[in-house]
Amino acid sequence: MSIIGLSVGEEKPNMDVFFNPIVISLKKLEYGFDLKIENVASEIKFFLIAGVFDKPAKSEVLNMIKCNGFNGCHKCNQPGISHRATKESGIQHIYEFKPEDSIDWKSKRNYADDLKKAIETGKTVNGVKGICILNRLKYYHPIESTCIDYMHSILEGVIKSLFKYWFNSENSTHPSSMRKYMQEIDKRLSNILPPKFVPTTPRSIYSSNLWRAHEYLSFILYYALGVFRDIMPFEYYQYLKKLILFIETILNASIDIDHLRRVELVLIEFVEEVSDLYSPSIMLSGMHELLHIVECTIQFGPLNSINCFQFEELNRKLMRFLHGKDLIGEELINVFSTAQVLSSFSTTISNTKVKDFVTTRMCFKSCNIKKQNKGLINISYKQLANSNNPVSVSLFNRLTNKRLVEVNTCLKIKMNGIVYNSHHHKTKRCDSCFISKNNQIGIIELFIIDENKVYVISKKLVQTANSFYSNKYRDLKSNLIICNITNEFIIQELKDIRKIVLINISEDNCFVSLFNSSHLFN
Ligand SMILES: [Zn+2]
Repeated sequence: MSIIGLSVGEEKPNMDVFFNPIVISLKKLEYGFDLKIENVASEIKFFLIAGVFDKPAKSEVLNMIKCNGFNGCHKCNQPGISHRATKESGIQHIYEFKPEDSIDWKSKRNYADDLKKAIETGKTVNGVKGICILNRLKYYHPIESTCIDYMHSILEGVIKSLFKYWFNSENSTHPSSMRKYMQEIDKRLSNILPPKFVPTTPRSIYSSNLWRAHEYLSFILYYALGVFRDIMPFEYYQYLKKLILFIETILNASIDIDHLRRVELVLIEFVEEVSDLYSPSIMLSGMHELLHIVECTIQFGPLNSINCFQFEELNRKLMRFLHGKDLIGEELINVFSTAQVLSSFSTTISNTKVKDFVTTRMCFKSCNIKKQNKGLINISYKQLANSNNPVSVSLFNRLTNKRLVEVNTCLKIKMNGIVYNSHHHKTKRCDSCFISKNNQIGIIELFIIDENKVYVISKKLVQTANSFYSNKYRDLKSNLIICNITNEFIIQELKDIRKIVLINISEDNCFVSLFNSSHLFN
């Protein structure tokens, strides 16, 4: 990771001044240079073809109107309208729902016309204020090369807006409000033990205005339907499923375009209905941009690979380094340089304790440095249960048709850097629910090591419902299913299972999400 630019001041930087050296460097990359790859010299050229920004930065860099102004959408020509919800409230800029076939997409041609007129008249034309500094790059086009950031638009936009209707005091009389059930919701949330691949355990619903984007993501992907069950009014509950289905689809590790197009129809229903179910005030730019997300996904690829998450995370870490109030820029560069030197020095440290200390504190999680344990194939197991437990031995023999008299068992195991637990091993995480290659779902009871193989003995879960669909498109289903925990034991090899999220609602009834999110939270 490199800091390319840093602006310290009372206000936002002048983007032309700030970006000029960056654009000069990018132009040099466009001219190309000789590079030797495996002893073969080639002339390599690099082009910037896609970019992603938060909303204020986007309007500044593209030199276009902000998202809360007329023609503030950089993907279409819908101007939006000014809206005042009540006499007392302020004016908002909202984008009323328009059917998909009436979307007037911005194109290269009408951007060029608008830019020409804007330059000639000195006035803003269809949101275009003037030249974008990135226009100097060969293949960067402000409209087509700029992706919508789902982190700000969906997680901190749409979902945060919904939270305001559900929990804020000023909306307590709204039919969607669950404010009077917050205590029960908080209790359910505190009982959730997510697996380790979810970055954090859930925080209190009372602090939801402080949640970070990935907490909203975990909530909506995994917890919402379990936590809101029998609390959220039925109509709103059914309606929320549409958004969950859509988010699951666009964040999937692999996306089938035909499936995406079908799920888009559900999303369009969602945006069409939201104004009536909540209020016109909810139609802010993030809600409007939902209608452009599918096109962005098709054009840029899965949005998980093009978003502001990594940069925001880095900003957060950098801010933690700062203690002074003066000379902030100097302090940041000094601390950052020290951290980078220590980080690279750590590769030469032989003392593992010192090395761990340095690497855990100095590793910047960014686009090119990720903590990964891939490649490790060693198995370590802890907390050996009673090896000669006759129940374990007979169970193993029965499930495998073997005739062993003794087995090695344990309740916690780590393989390829991934921790698995038996549900008897109590921690703040639940690393015991899995789906196997043959689509069996289980909760781990015990691990058995036999002849260099690790077996997982589990209680089988059976699916009882998966009614997460839109009435119009009943075959489109979410990855969230409701399961019963049975008393039947099953056996799998550890290498054949994948951890999934389990939300216990009652003793024998639970929500299970089969959504594979291991690619999301790196
Ligand atoms: Zn638009």
